[in-house]
Amino acid sequence: MEPDSEEDGVSGARSRGEAGVIRVLDELVRNQIAAGEVIERPASVVKELVENAVDAGARRVRVDLEEGGLRLVRVTDDGTGMGAPDLARAFAPHATSKLRDAADLDHIASLGFRGEALASIGSVARCAIFSRREDEELGGRVENEGGRLTDPAEAGGPCGTSVEVRDLFFNTPARRRFLKRPSTELARCTDVLQRAALGQLGIGFVLTHDGARVLDVEPEMDLRARVRRAFGADLAESLEQVDARDGTTVLTGLVAPPRFARRDASRQMWFLNGRTLRDRVLVRCLKDAYRGWVLDGRQPVAFLHLAMDPGAVDVNVHPAKAEVRFRDQRRLFGFLVNALREAASRTEMATPGASMLASAAGRGERGAPGQGAITDPGPLPRGSGAAEPLVVREVAGAPPIVDLPGRREEAAPTLAEGGDDLAGPYLTIASTYVARAVPDGFELVDQHALHERVTYEELLADARAGAVEVQGYLVPELVELSAAEVDLLARHAGDLARIGIQLEPFGATTVAVGGVPARLRRPDPAELVRVALGVLESRREAPAAEDLLEDVLHSAACRSSAMAGDDLDPAEIRSLLERARAFDGAPTCPHGRPTRVRFTLADLERAFGRR
Ligand code: ADP
Ligand code: MG
Repeated sequence: MEPDSEEDGVSGARSRGEAGVIRVLDELVRNQIAAGEVIERPASVVKELVENAVDAGARRVRVDLEEGGLRLVRVTDDGTGMGAPDLARAFAPHATSKLRDAADLDHIASLGFRGEALASIGSVARCAIFSRREDEELGGRVENEGGRLTDPAEAGGPCGTSVEVRDLFFNTPARRRFLKRPSTELARCTDVLQRAALGQLGIGFVLTHDGARVLDVEPEMDLRARVRRAFGADLAESLEQVDARDGTTVLTGLVAPPRFARRDASRQMWFLNGRTLRDRVLVRCLKDAYRGWVLDGRQPVAFLHLAMDPGAVDVNVHPAKAEVRFRDQRRLFGFLVNALREAASRTEMATPGASMLASAAGRGERGAPGQGAITDPGPLPRGSGAAEPLVVREVAGAPPIVDLPGRREEAAPTLAEGGDDLAGPYLTIASTYVARAVPDGFELVDQHALHERVTYEELLADARAGAVEVQGYLVPELVELSAAEVDLLARHAGDLARIGIQLEPFGATTVAVGGVPARLRRPDPAELVRVALGVLESRREAPAAEDLLEDVLHSAACRSSAMAGDDLDPAEIRSLLERARAFDGAPTCPHGRPTRVRFTLADLERAFGRR
């Protein structure tokens, strides 16, 4: 009997109560539902196919796209290839060569294992696979058009595999509507390929779009060379190496100076045993490692490989396998933050002036006397896109500020060195910047940013020593808040007192502020309370007291040192510079803006055409 004929349908079946209403979905619908989890857009197709190529032991992987991958994604590899029996099964759901039983899930070393990708892609696009094993004369070809599968047919071609995916979502219009313009889809595909190229050292990758080459990485290139290909020489030459180990866990990779931090995380890459992942815990590690050095909301740039015993991490928690679960997360977190902060602290934090001189020179009047030599492209440092790294020759007795690639150990920060007595004269520009000579050139100081840094570091030192000086109010300042906010502050009143913010509830919706840190310039109690609340609320887990102190001091210092526009006399400038000497390792304000820009004599000589 046919319970679901057109006329009576499901309700008819229900009214008769015979056949029931639960049906087993047919295979195509099942695959399309699975595709909904794994395949969202061309970039997800690229990701799955590239992972298959890597799992197949490819040395070279080539990806060709048309119209941002909307019309065509083709991934070609020189890996093991598939024989006819495997080819016949490749598009079947839950068909995989990488997993035998549930026990294997505990130690997955391949990128794929769910056996879902090809079945999913085949159910929502027009696909074809050509594949040939090395030990066979001929290869084979199968097609799958939205779930309609052909039998493998013999076909000629090179060893390896080529998978073609055309017209993604041609048979699921609702999904197709969520796709973006080709340029947007291309950007996402490029991101996938960049991550693959930086994650799979030893494998070469080529990406083309509508016939033009977008990315090209040779198998033998190391990580730094790959970064240079993907993101340019300026970034590649500024990176510092990370090399750390904790038991069997090994962290290697490259971290960038804080000034490269971006609003998006496109240049922050984590790889776990070769697998690309976007894990919240790891993102948080980098954020903590760069604390105080990058602007709020910016993401540090880093390319990091984590090698761990596959048994110490569960990768089977997310269909696209982007998130994982670490067995001993606390220990891992501490290890990573320490190693990363140490490496980040070795990066060049002072903004090199040399790159600015090139653009300043470019602003000179055309044809003005003396400008000819400056605009001559020959010996000048070029802008950030240049293939050649900036090179600064050493001047007798003084180390260079811009590092020579590979000779970083000789390039110590210059400011604390002997010979700089901090004596003026100072030239104040726009009541904000101070210019002064240093032994090997000159520097510009943003007095506001430097004051923020100094206040922050001094407050932090006071707090750590338990000796924050408090300025008490004769009459407490009352700040009105919500009951929940008052409650939150009350629970952290002890921690706040340690950093000099003294407050107590004053009725259900008011706090009374009795004192604030004396070091703050023009403190505004209501503002301080809001800053503290902001920090407490932004932390999902209860913050460690130490973290809370740092964050509050950080914000409070920045908001209260309103010095840009204030005229400082030479004695005040000198005292600021002297206090700053203690923190020369990190010449940025606590929000990550530069506090100083330095120009060496070599920079000047080059700018004036003397060398
Ligand atoms: P999974 O990668 O999770 O095993 P897929 O659906 O992506 O599942 O692939 C199914 C199977 O097809 C793989 O297990 C593998 O045996 C085979 N396969 C897919 N792509 C390739 C390739 N490029 N080279 C060789 N074999 C492949
Ligand atoms: Mg796969």
